[in-house]
Amino acid sequence: MKPRPAAVIAVASGKGGTGKTTVAAHLALASSALHATLLVDLDVEAPDSMGYFPGAVPVGTAVPVTVAVPRLDESSCTACGHCASVCRFGAVVAIGSVVTVDAKACKGCGRCVSACPSGALSETEMETGKTSLHRRGRLEILEGRMAIGDIRSVSVIEAAKREEGRLPVVVRIRDCPPGVSCPATHAIDGADFVILVAEPTAFSLHDLDAAVRLVRGRGVPSGVVVNKAGFGDADIEGFCSDRGIPVIGRVEFNASRAASGAAGALWEDDPAFMAEMGRVLSVTLDGRAEREGETR
Ligand code: SF4
Ligand code: SF4
Repeated sequence: MKPRPAAVIAVASGKGGTGKTTVAAHLALASSALHATLLVDLDVEAPDSMGYFPGAVPVGTAVPVTVAVPRLDESSCTACGHCASVCRFGAVVAIGSVVTVDAKACKGCGRCVSACPSGALSETEMETGKTSLHRRGRLEILEGRMAIGDIRSVSVIEAAKREEGRLPVVVRIRDCPPGVSCPATHAIDGADFVILVAEPTAFSLHDLDAAVRLVRGRGVPSGVVVNKAGFGDADIEGFCSDRGIPVIGRVEFNASRAASGAAGALWEDDPAFMAEMGRVLSVTLDGRAEREGETR
């Protein structure tokens, strides 16, 4: 019998600073008490999940993520300009007899190399980031991290997703990039359920609206976790009700918890909070089981 694929839960948000990583880290912690669990930090521009697990032990060494970028042999180039005309990212420019390759803007699609009639372009690997794995008890933490100054976050996100698929766990929790741009889309694709973390403020609701539309557009089931419930004055429950998205968890605002969280402390000794994380986890996993039952 084929093993059941791991459940993939993406934790996302319409904007940064809503408590997304806090929820992802504690959800993973709650899950690891029951199942072999992987926390995947796909917020590769600013990965900070590991900040919650300073004692986690490295497993192996960091794995470089690379893309194949073109290298120009000027002596073979006839300045025909074909390479520049096929590049959709403006990473090769041909002006008169001068051809320039901007390797940092290159997405590694290989079109220019294939299009060059003179063999003047070859491929060379360029590092865009790294993935690294750590372990803490039954919890494994896979971090994707972009190279400093690089802009190709999607290459690192996709490399981390390939890596997560190789690890034999029961539950995978992804900490996704905030917002609704390309990196966020790549991070939620392939998830069984998306948890959107939002605060009850007008600003957060505006971005939550965009995130709901993104997730709906990808066809992934979703629910909202309200962080700092009782702190802001926006009617987040009414907003979710209007849009038909369930509120699946609430983290009440608590000043001392907020202060310790800002310092990177885990709230694993906070029974009310961990029970709420356990409930949110059950909702996501039960929903997956129900959907599987419906398609059987
Ligand atoms: S490999 Fe693709 S993205 Fe990179 S320079 Fe060539 S055509 Fe442009
Ligand atoms: S396609 Fe090849 S020969 Fe033509 S400009 Fe580009 S590198 Fe030079």
